[in-house]
Amino acid sequence: MINIAKPFIGEEEKSAVMAVLNSGQISPGKKVEEFEQRFAFYINAKHAIATSSGTTALKTLLMGYKIKHGDEVIVPTLTFGATASPILFCGARPVFSDVDAETFNISAQSIQEKITPKTKAIIPVHLYGLPCDMKAIHEIAHEKNITIIEDACQAHGAEHFGKKVGSENSAAFSLYATKNITTGEGGLITTNDDIVAERCRLARNHGQSTRYNYVELGYNFRMTNIHAAIGIEQLKKLDLFNDARARNAKFLSENLPKSVRLQKVNAGLKHVYHLFSLCINNRDRALKILNEAGIESNAYYPVPVHKTELYKKLGCETSLPNAEKICGEILSLPVHPAVTDEDLSYIVEVMKSICA
Ligand SMILES: *Cc1c(COP(=O)(O)O)cnc(C)c1O
Repeated sequence: MINIAKPFIGEEEKSAVMAVLNSGQISPGKKVEEFEQRFAFYINAKHAIATSSGTTALKTLLMGYKIKHGDEVIVPTLTFGATASPILFCGARPVFSDVDAETFNISAQSIQEKITPKTKAIIPVHLYGLPCDMKAIHEIAHEKNITIIEDACQAHGAEHFGKKVGSENSAAFSLYATKNITTGEGGLITTNDDIVAERCRLARNHGQSTRYNYVELGYNFRMTNIHAAIGIEQLKKLDLFNDARARNAKFLSENLPKSVRLQKVNAGLKHVYHLFSLCINNRDRALKILNEAGIESNAYYPVPVHKTELYKKLGCETSLPNAEKICGEILSLPVHPAVTDEDLSYIVEVMKSICA
């Protein structure tokens, strides 16, 4: 089986974990601080704050921006549910936006249409590792004084006109096992705003300014030294991982049948291929053939978030035609660093037979 995702854990990670276990300092501490400093440096952000997951990174950031009951936050509907659920946990309302038919990323025009006087934030998702059209989003947000929080959970190292995602706005990253780098579970926030950074650090740790002094409502969203030790070693390999993903994606882009519609990468954007995704006619048949041929392939995502039961119940249903169409045609192929040249040729061969 050629898996759709595979964590790449080496001897470095294993010995780093053993060193932490032997030190006895297994809860949050020095390793977490070192990981945060290294990640902030890598992204070129002023602060990095480690959390227990990408979901809690988003939740912590929303708390950092004081998103609350009565506020609206615009999100794309073609995403993982964790882009939207932290908004509900803040008592605010997610407002779903459509995506661009070619890039599959949030559409600036659709954002415009969804803005109301209650709109406090926009969460663009760099879907599959491709940065959003941030120039247009910056313009809209700037004009209306709306906060941008990037969901960069799939986009570690992706670049927008030479700048890493998460370096210009506050952002959330995930370290789940399928992501470009992993700690098993884990997350990271980046921000250049000192006040937001301070509020996030409070939110992450029970709102304590000093021990047992609760100044704000907070929770336990912390990362452990064990996870941070893995993260430090993974971060050292991130550029190599992303290069391998890009090489694999280039081969697929050049060799797949022309009848499939690839995710369009506009000029100035560096895609880090968390997933290699395309639209294809008769998608479910293609998925079946691929999986039977030993190529693990999935639809990310088969249903747009606004069409799922929870969000329908909450009255979020609306018509978002591009995303609804894409969800019926989207399919992702293995592109991770452990996919071999032989695997790639086989994937192309099977795709050719599907499209014949
Ligand atoms: C993975 C992911 C998340 C959530 O991250 P976890 O670490 O799994 O909590 C949020 N948004 C997107 C787009 C993701 O892919």
